[in-house]
Amino acid sequence: SYRKGGYHAVRVGDSFAGGRYIAQRKLGWGEFSTVWLAYDTKSSNYVALKIQKSAPQFAQAALHEIELLSAIADGDPTNSKCVVRLLDQFKHTGPNGQHLCMVLEFLGDSLLRLIKYNRYKGLELNKVREICKCILIGLDYLHRELGIIHTDLKPENILLVSTIDPAKDPIRSGYTPILERPEGNPNSGVTLNGIEKKLKRRARRAVARISERRASMGGVVRNPKPERSLNGINVSCKVVDFGNACWANKQFAKEIQTRQYRAPEVVLHSGYSFSVDMWSFACTAFELATGEMLFTPKGGQGFDEDEDHLALMMERLGKMPRKIAIGGARSKDYFDRHGDLKRIRRLKYLPLDRLLVDKFKFSDTDAREFSEFLIPILDFAPEKRPTAQQCLQHPWLNINLTHNEEKNETSLKKVVVGMSNLNINVGK
Ligand code: ADP
Ligand code: MG
Repeated sequence: SYRKGGYHAVRVGDSFAGGRYIAQRKLGWGEFSTVWLAYDTKSSNYVALKIQKSAPQFAQAALHEIELLSAIADGDPTNSKCVVRLLDQFKHTGPNGQHLCMVLEFLGDSLLRLIKYNRYKGLELNKVREICKCILIGLDYLHRELGIIHTDLKPENILLVSTIDPAKDPIRSGYTPILERPEGNPNSGVTLNGIEKKLKRRARRAVARISERRASMGGVVRNPKPERSLNGINVSCKVVDFGNACWANKQFAKEIQTRQYRAPEVVLHSGYSFSVDMWSFACTAFELATGEMLFTPKGGQGFDEDEDHLALMMERLGKMPRKIAIGGARSKDYFDRHGDLKRIRRLKYLPLDRLLVDKFKFSDTDAREFSEFLIPILDFAPEKRPTAQQCLQHPWLNINLTHNEEKNETSLKKVVVGMSNLNINVGK
């Protein structure tokens, strides 16, 4: 994909936007982009630099994403609504073409990595609650205040907020920004203009100050880890990736959402609205609490993935009301006129609370309370699902259990701390 129209190859120390941003290391990638940790020499802050593939369709998608991210930033001047903030944007010309670049606030690991670090055992319920609150604050903002549907909510697209800001505390975080390509002059053949020279001088001075302070501490980084226990702080996170998001009144795609998080009305092509994000939210909450996806449909003999998906939903949530089952443009492919599936005839019903107890060893109380929170959000009738605002009022979010606090402490620490130390190598 590193060819004409594709990704822009970045090396550590590469500079962007006239020398303002300097690439530190790769944070992640998606279908359309690579994302790098960069040092902003102007604000002396770390940022995430999302560099889009250059072909016209990717540039178009990036422009749309920037439009949404700009509205999100404008509507939330205090940056407190649990959605990633766009800080800047620019174009970068490289050997593969012209790439639109988004400068985003730098966040930590995704919830998917958090689940992995926890060895797919599920997080302690108090952590799940804190994370759910953040996601709901984000969704409420997007839906009610802005009219935006995310359409791709899932653990991968929700990032933790780092507990230590390495830019504000480079000594404790143990990380000094890289200002040039390690193997030589990053700007060979390029003449820096006055502003660029000034930025670079300023950044060099800042790094020198950090080294001096480190030396004055005997050259060792004392206490590179956060002192605060994660028990005492909120596990906050933010919604990211607006590459597929849309204005509710200007929808363009029929087939939205990642398979496992896809709402039934999307499978059936019955039309959709904000409540598709609520469905994905419930799937995400279940996965955080159990370590396993709620629905993992697979095609089989004589039936496809969609029909399996509908069957799995009904096995967990009960029979789909006939009116809803036969109401979509694709209903005839899967349902007969009675509202029964055409090819998958025998369903094994197991209600959510039973599953939580039997398979995931929840206590009866935990299982009942958690299902009471989730089941209304997983209503087959989209208009009956509670809104994010209504979910925020649910008593389950305010239960505060104090027992069992230690259970997931190690994994959480590893992830958040690892991230703020900037030491985890994200690969590829
Ligand atoms: P795509 O639209 O190509 O999927 P994303 O916006 O989802 O791109 O970003 C791809 C990956 O980059 C994410 O899964 C995450 O690992 C990382 N990433 C994205 N934004 C940030 C950020 N603001 N801070 C830290 N990492 C990020
Ligand atoms: Mg993504």
